[in-house]
Amino acid sequence: MDQNLAPASNAINRLIQEFNKLPGIGPKSAQRLAYYLLRASEEQPGLLAEAILSLKQQTMLCSVCLNVTDSDPCPICDSNERDRNKVCVVEQPQDILALEHTRIYKGLYHVLHGAISPTEGVGADDVRIKELLQRLQGGAINEVIFATNPNLEGEQTAMYLHRLISPFGIRITRLARGLPFGTELEYADDVTLTRAIEGRQEF
Ligand SMILES: [Zn+2]
Repeated sequence: MDQNLAPASNAINRLIQEFNKLPGIGPKSAQRLAYYLLRASEEQPGLLAEAILSLKQQTMLCSVCLNVTDSDPCPICDSNERDRNKVCVVEQPQDILALEHTRIYKGLYHVLHGAISPTEGVGADDVRIKELLQRLQGGAINEVIFATNPNLEGEQTAMYLHRLISPFGIRITRLARGLPFGTELEYADDVTLTRAIEGRQEF
């Protein structure tokens, strides 16, 4: 940034730069947020800082499904009201939020923490596939539902997983095609997602 155009305060500058690193926050929004906090009540910046710090300090990955949780196993894996024979495979923890919001799916999940993308240098070893295969070896799962994003990376990942999981002789399904190609699951609306789960097809 041109020095003459930068705020006269290093503290403001630093916060703007940090906000600007966040997804979906451009320089203008970063500026607006920083100046907003400057004007906000005395405690608000502290509450925000505390919430950000506890994000890393209080959360962990569930040792079963790899979802982000405050307790291990997570409430979904720990619940006896869930169908323990089904595993829905998603790319990110926030995809679970979207699917849970529909209230239609009652099985378990597995979070890959990414999708295979040769163009971006993300290989099969960079996502949590090994843990999924270990779960399937347990023998309790009789259906795996691929809920990877309906885009190139998501399709590639589903195809790769299909090759690995086929030998297990487990039913493999894929969310229905109602989801527009190129989108991400977390942005899909409830109606579309519900239809996609209910209309899931054999992969
Ligand atoms: Zn879990």
